[in-house]
Amino acid sequence: MRPRDGDSAAAAARAPLLPPPAPRRAAARFHPLPLLIAAAFAASYRLLLFAPAPSYYQYLFLSLGSNDTAAAHLRALTVRPHLAGTEANAAAAVHVASALSSHSFPTRLTPYSVLLSYPARRSLSLSAPGRDDTTFALTQETYPGDPYAAVSAEAVPTFLAYAASGSVTAEAVYANYGRVEDFAYLAAHGVNVTGKVALARFGKVYRGDIVKNARDAGAAAAVLYTDAKDYAPGKAFPDGPWMPPTGVQVGNTFTGVGDPTTPMWASSEGCERLSVAEAMSSDDMPGIPALPVSGRDGEAILQLIGGDVAPEDWQGGDGAPTYRLGPGPAVLNLTYTGNETMATIQNVISVIEGKEEPERYVILGNHRDAWTFGAVDPNSGTAALLELAQRLSELQKKGWRPRRTIILCNWDAEEYGLIGSTEWVEENRAMLASKTVAYLNVDCAVTGSGFYVSATPQLDELLKEASKQVQNPDNGTQSLYDLWMASNSSRLIGRLGGGGSDYSAFVQHIGIPSLDMTIGSGYAVYHSLYDDFIWMEKFGDPLFQRHVAVASIWGLVALRLSDEEILPFNYSCYAAELENGAMEINERVLGMPVSLSPLHTSIKEFKSAVLKLEFELKALQTWKIWPPWRKNPLKARDINDRLMMTERAFTEREGLSERPWYKHLIYGPSLHNDYGAELYPGVDDAIQTAKRTNTSKSWQSVQHEIHRISRVITQAALVLSGGLT
Ligand SMILES: [Zn+2]
Repeated sequence: MRPRDGDSAAAAARAPLLPPPAPRRAAARFHPLPLLIAAAFAASYRLLLFAPAPSYYQYLFLSLGSNDTAAAHLRALTVRPHLAGTEANAAAAVHVASALSSHSFPTRLTPYSVLLSYPARRSLSLSAPGRDDTTFALTQETYPGDPYAAVSAEAVPTFLAYAASGSVTAEAVYANYGRVEDFAYLAAHGVNVTGKVALARFGKVYRGDIVKNARDAGAAAAVLYTDAKDYAPGKAFPDGPWMPPTGVQVGNTFTGVGDPTTPMWASSEGCERLSVAEAMSSDDMPGIPALPVSGRDGEAILQLIGGDVAPEDWQGGDGAPTYRLGPGPAVLNLTYTGNETMATIQNVISVIEGKEEPERYVILGNHRDAWTFGAVDPNSGTAALLELAQRLSELQKKGWRPRRTIILCNWDAEEYGLIGSTEWVEENRAMLASKTVAYLNVDCAVTGSGFYVSATPQLDELLKEASKQVQNPDNGTQSLYDLWMASNSSRLIGRLGGGGSDYSAFVQHIGIPSLDMTIGSGYAVYHSLYDDFIWMEKFGDPLFQRHVAVASIWGLVALRLSDEEILPFNYSCYAAELENGAMEINERVLGMPVSLSPLHTSIKEFKSAVLKLEFELKALQTWKIWPPWRKNPLKARDINDRLMMTERAFTEREGLSERPWYKHLIYGPSLHNDYGAELYPGVDDAIQTAKRTNTSKSWQSVQHEIHRISRVITQAALVLSGGLT
C-alpha cells in the first residue's frame, strides 16, 4: 500500500503506536448482552416504522469475533517473506484458498502472467577526497534471538522495483523529500542536479514520484533513505516500534496501474502485449537507476556532502550531522541491474452465493503479496478477512444465506502497482460494472492506533451507523465510532482519489461505490525486513483485538449491503460533497473567465434526484404497511439498481485527460499529486495549468473540464431519479 500522509512514520508519531497499558485479557470478545438488548430495542423501533426487523445475523456476526483465529492466520501467513511471483507467495495463496474452502465457500485461483521486477545486481560505494572509500553492505541486519533470522535470507535484496538498469558514478546532491518544490529550491539556489546522484529521504510523496522528480531535474540516479527523524525518533525494533539503523524501505517505483505490458486491458492468456522494452520505456517507469538505503547509510553519505547548509526543515533530528546541499565532494558509485520478467501471480476468489439476488455482488478485497514478511502490510488485512470468513461460515451453520452474493478476494502483486486487482477488474469489467453493489477494501488492517476510513460518499452514513455497533478495541466502554471521532480532528472520512490500494480499479476505472479502512495511520518498519509477526505481537496489536474490530466493521458493512432489501446508500452526502467541491473551485477561479453555472445546475438536478428518491423510498415503506402482499419486489429492484448505478454515471469513456485509464471524473489522481486531488481532478489539473500559464486557451480548458464534470453529474442525477428526458 501507499500509506496516507506519504510514507512517513511521522503520522504514526501523531497517533501513538502503542496501545494504552491494559491488563492482558484472555479474549476481547464483544460482549453479546448489550448487543442483544440493542437488537431487541432496534427491532421494536423498526417495527414502529413497519420495516423488516434487522437481521439477527448481524448481531450474531459481531458476537463471534475471535482474536485467536486472527492471530493464528497472521502467524501462518507470515512464516516466510512472500513477494509476488515467488513460490512462498504461491504457498500463502494455498493457505488462503484452503482456509476459505474449508468453510465450503466455492474458491478458485485466478492466475495472470504479468511483468514483475527483481534485483539481479546492486552495489553502492561512497568516496570523497582524502577518505577511504566505503562500500555499503546493502543488507538489513537481524538481531540476536530473531526467530525469523534463518528465513530472512529469503527476503528480496533491498531494491526499488522497475528502476532502470545502469551504472552511475557522480557527485551526490541532497534533495530533502524529493518533491517538485525541493528540486525547485535546489535550482533556485544554483545547485545543479544534472548528471548527479540525488539523495532524498522517504516520507512525503510516493517513492516513484521521488525518482521521477529526480529524473526530471536531470539526475542520473537516485538514492532514497529513511531519515531517523521520521522513522526512528524512539527505540528501534525489537526494543521499540521504530526502524532499526539498517532497516530499508523497499518498494515500487512504477507510477502506472496494473501489468505494465497490458496498460489498458487485462493480462488474459494470449492477449495483446507490449514488449518488456516497450513497457520499461513508458513514462510511468522511473527511467533512471535507483536504490533505497538505510538510515545509517544515508547519514554516512550526508556526512560527506558539502556546499551550502540546507534549510532548517531539510535537517535531520537530534544527533544528526548538519545536512548540506552539495553537489559533492561525496561521490556515489551506484550500479543496479534489474531483472524484469514475466511472472505468474494468483488472486484467490471465494464466492458465497446470494439467495434472492445472486447476480448482485458485494465484494471484499485485501492483497496478500508482501515485500518481506508482511505482518502489517498486508497480512493483518488478510488475517482479518479470514477471521471474518470464519464468522460467516458460523452464520451459515445457523441458517444464514446472504440475499446478494458476497465475494471475498485476496489479491496478488498489489505492491507492484495494484496488479492483481486491476487485471481482474479489467478482465471482468462489463460484468462487474453491471452487477456490483460495492467494493470494500482493507489493505493493512492494523498499523497502530486510531481508526481511519476513506469512502465514496453514499457509504458515509452506513459507516457511521456500523461503527457505532462495534467496540473500540482499545477501550471497552466506547464504540469504534468514538475512536474514529477521536482520531480525526479535521476530517472524518477521506476520499478515494489517490492510487493507494486495490480500490483504485473499482472506483476510478469503473465507478463502483467503495471504501478503504485501517486501524492506525502509519508505522515505521513499513516495507522493511522488520514488518513481521513479532513486531505486530509486541507493538501493533498484542491482543489482536484491533484485527477483530476491523473484521467486525468490515463484515457488518458487508452484511448490511448484502442482506438489506433496500441498499443502505445515502446520496445526500454525495450532493453535499459535490457542492463543497464547487465552492472550492469557485474560490480558485474568482475573477477569471470561467462560468460555474453548468456545474451549479447539474448539482441542483442531482439534489432534486436525491429528494425524489427519498420520497419514493418513503412511499415504498408505506406500501408495506398494508396489505403486506402488495410489497413490490420489482419496485425495490428498480430503486436498488438506481442506487447502485449512480456511481457508474460519474465515469466517462474518455477518462481524465492524459490519464485515460482513470474514468471517474469526480475522484481520481491529480496530475500533480499521485495521492489524489480531493475532488474533480481534471478541473484541478486545468486550474493549476491555467494559473501557471494564464493564457485564454488554458482558461478555456478549465471551462471545458467544468462542462465535463457537469455532464457526468447530470447523468448521475438521471440515473438516481430513474427518468428519461
Ligand atoms: Zn499493502
